[in-house]
Amino acid sequence: MKQLIHGGRVLTSGRLDGAPADLLIDGDSIAAVLPPGTSVADDVKRVDATHRLLIPGLINCHTHATVQLGKALADRWSLELLLNAYPWTAGGRTAEMKYLSARIGALEMLQKGCTACYDLAAEIPAPSIDGIEMVARAYADTGMRAVIAPMMADTTFYRAIPGLIEAMPPGLKEKAEALKATPHDVSLDICKRIIEGWTFDKDQVRPALGPTIPHHCSDAFIAGCRDLARAHGIGVQMHVAESKVQAVVGKRKYGTTLVGHLAALDLIGPNFTASHAIWIDDDDMARLADRGASVSHNPGSNMKLGSGLAATRKMKDRGINLGLGTDGCLSSDNLNMFEAMRAAAYVSRVQGPDPRQWLSAAEAFEAATVGGARALGMERQIGQLAPGMKADVVFLDLTSINYIPLNEPLLHVVFVEDGTGVDRVMVGGQLRVEGGKSIGVDMVRLAAEASTAATQLAATNAAARDFVHAFEPVVLDYCVGLARQPYHVQRWCGHAG
Ligand SMILES: [Zn+2]
Repeated sequence: MKQLIHGGRVLTSGRLDGAPADLLIDGDSIAAVLPPGTSVADDVKRVDATHRLLIPGLINCHTHATVQLGKALADRWSLELLLNAYPWTAGGRTAEMKYLSARIGALEMLQKGCTACYDLAAEIPAPSIDGIEMVARAYADTGMRAVIAPMMADTTFYRAIPGLIEAMPPGLKEKAEALKATPHDVSLDICKRIIEGWTFDKDQVRPALGPTIPHHCSDAFIAGCRDLARAHGIGVQMHVAESKVQAVVGKRKYGTTLVGHLAALDLIGPNFTASHAIWIDDDDMARLADRGASVSHNPGSNMKLGSGLAATRKMKDRGINLGLGTDGCLSSDNLNMFEAMRAAAYVSRVQGPDPRQWLSAAEAFEAATVGGARALGMERQIGQLAPGMKADVVFLDLTSINYIPLNEPLLHVVFVEDGTGVDRVMVGGQLRVEGGKSIGVDMVRLAAEASTAATQLAATNAAARDFVHAFEPVVLDYCVGLARQPYHVQRWCGHAG
């Protein structure tokens, strides 16, 4: 089927003025961007976009399906407190809950103008074929595109931080020592079966690998992920140098930076995305840039967890492909890519006095579209409204208060839009959101299902919650102590000290 989206304005990479244009859609792809009012054949379905600004679906480079039931659950948590709490905030899920959690996240992203994401889906204690299939099915059913990476570790959180177990009082120490992570060969074997048995359309949902954090994964595990990814031509994403604690631990453990360690393991390449990448230095940036890697910049999460401010200007100048992410609901609560764009632009401005070094609205927009597409390995399919690209189109309502009066369309999208101006969202030529609401979704029923799941999870995870709660004071004191140690990041705008 052909469709003509007519009467609107188009804002996309290479057309950042948001000038009037029509879009001809053929099946699931864009056939042409036409001058306004171009006549087409009678059998082409006409879609009115009067008073609408059309932008490509935004791309979220970093989120977690597992914890989308966890919005508004955590307040003053550092990353380390969040990781300590993971057994109860992310554990105990049935297959149905894995589906529900992923679906709620996908619906939120779609309603807020995001049509594709890179999802590091955690399962405790290890990934499962059924669990990842549930996540993939949730995205497919909701109509969103996703790269789904099982998130894994073969070292427990307590062992991953040198000295932490030794700092524990008797009683806790034995409990921490007794915990065992799933061996890497078990997780790798499951991943291999997931990848080889993949039945979903890879243009919509495709597999990747997510060894979660360098020092939570043995070298053999990281090398195994590297080889598996290469053998199947898929992506790898890791949390890299997200917190200062991680940077300090990495230097202690490896005698080099975390990125230096991953480079020595030959993991970094065009299929690699480093998420957060806050505590990285000039040499790390060179390693990432020269090997063609991407960074997912997640400013909302970085601020909420107090992790720091990533040096995005330096990354861009050095040639790193920059995408933007929201992170999961435990660390940024909403999954709003408009907010991520604005936060990315804003946090770049509190890092130095020279406006020429700040991220511009155009750079934030490009990161949320073409930059994200490249990080997902889908740069030939998504991220632009251009011939040959998938018809993933967000219709922004220019009669929304966000556009009154209309000045520079691009600046409205990055600095004003908060998702409330999203009217329609189309993915692959198919309408998924209309009037700001998900089509065919009973939200009252969804709320009831989510509430039941939350109650069940609270009961299931009560023991796990009590168990890790006992560790909280020692994790807090030990990690704050680590974070207070001097750690010099060699670059022009630093977070040293
Ligand atoms: Zn994350």
